[in-house]
Amino acid sequence: MKNAKYLILRRVVQASILFLFFAGNYYSWIVLKGDLSQSLLFGKIPLSDPYAVLQMFTAGAAISTDLLVGSAIIILFYGVLGGRAFCSWVCPVNIITDAANWTRRKLGFDMVGKRTPISRSVRYWVIVISLVISYFLGIAAFEFISPISMVHRGIIFGMGFGWATIAVLYLFDLFVLKNGWCGHICPLGASYSIIGKFRLLKVKHDSDVCTGCMRCKVVCPESQVLHMIDKESLPVLSGECTNCGRCIDVCEDNALGFFLKIQNSKKGEIDNEEDK
Ligand code: SF4
Ligand code: SF4
Repeated sequence: MKNAKYLILRRVVQASILFLFFAGNYYSWIVLKGDLSQSLLFGKIPLSDPYAVLQMFTAGAAISTDLLVGSAIIILFYGVLGGRAFCSWVCPVNIITDAANWTRRKLGFDMVGKRTPISRSVRYWVIVISLVISYFLGIAAFEFISPISMVHRGIIFGMGFGWATIAVLYLFDLFVLKNGWCGHICPLGASYSIIGKFRLLKVKHDSDVCTGCMRCKVVCPESQVLHMIDKESLPVLSGECTNCGRCIDVCEDNALGFFLKIQNSKKGEIDNEEDK
């Protein structure tokens, strides 16, 4: 393995954010208070999950200025820069599903190119269904049953039922469906795929140095986004890429790297700052 730079960085960021939420609750630190749906940064800057706000709006709730501003900040950050980075750099469920993925590989459950029995588009239908239910029941439907909130609140306010949620997610991804929750069902991850479609930070593939070892596809939680591997020099355009950097970590040929898309020139070339 080349290195684990991005994996370690992600875990540090995830743990730090969780700790700041925890400290906001237990020690009244003002850095980050609230939860993943709605929080306050430095006691002043509102941050809101746009998908949660959309459910509240559909349910008929009054949307405060703070919620609107908070959503706009999040959409701007992930839409312009990070893409679906929320999933791999912030969401605590990612640690569980990555662990299930790792276990699958160790147990030899995985085969590259093996088709999964259900479409990865199901998650977009879950968004639609949750909004319809929110409309008819007058509640933010997914927020009500979200395993992400259960795990996150469990870590911050005390586990309790959170352990059962962790076990179910892990066992589901391990035995039932590879990347089952994050890669097929989770509507929150799907909402960030939509928001991050035109992000500036992307992974780029250089086919001139790629040896086609497929290590990247084995570790990628959304391997369909790496369709260009061993074929063309193209960036990963799909919003389903979580910008986790795992493919870059495991590539021993330096064929993958993050780049910041500044602008497209007339010839369609990409001006970028590379980080391999
Ligand atoms: S897909 Fe959902 S549960 Fe998975 S990391 Fe993204 S937001 Fe979290
Ligand atoms: S393409 Fe790379 S950065 Fe994107 S999800 Fe797959 S492993 Fe992560």
